[in-house]
Amino acid sequence: MGRQPLWRRVDFIPRVTYFKPTGVPVAQLQEVRLSVEEAEAIRLKDREGLGQDQCAQRMSISRTTFHRILVLARQKIADALLNGRAIRIAGGNFEMTVRRFRCDNGHEWEVPFEVMINTPPQFCPTCNTPSIMALWPWGPAWGRGDGGRRHRGGRNW
Ligand SMILES: [Zn+2]
Repeated sequence: MGRQPLWRRVDFIPRVTYFKPTGVPVAQLQEVRLSVEEAEAIRLKDREGLGQDQCAQRMSISRTTFHRILVLARQKIADALLNGRAIRIAGGNFEMTVRRFRCDNGHEWEVPFEVMINTPPQFCPTCNTPSIMALWPWGPAWGRGDGGRRHRGGRNW
């Protein structure tokens, strides 16, 4: 295919996705929304201490794009910390390094990102049914809220 991926590659999704300051009435609470790829940028750069080139490679994006995501992520976190806002980590344009699939007979399995780009699975490896669907690792709330189905290159997964 050789096409630039539309989605940023992400290795990790935080388990805790909501942070809220104490002592702020809910009515006054404002929320900062951090996308999953913004959280990943912070993790790679600030937590793992990788260089920007490495980070960009890990996420399959250009250095410029990585820098833009990182700056935005830091601004949002700073805003939340200094102005007492809640942080919600959700959504974004990202692709997990591993995707989980499930067939109509309830079998589940995982396919690595690299394999999926070129040859998305067509059949369940256990029972060979073609009735399969992609799942998000933590349910359909992740990604674009399309219930885990995703269209790319004319294929439905
Ligand atoms: Zn099956």
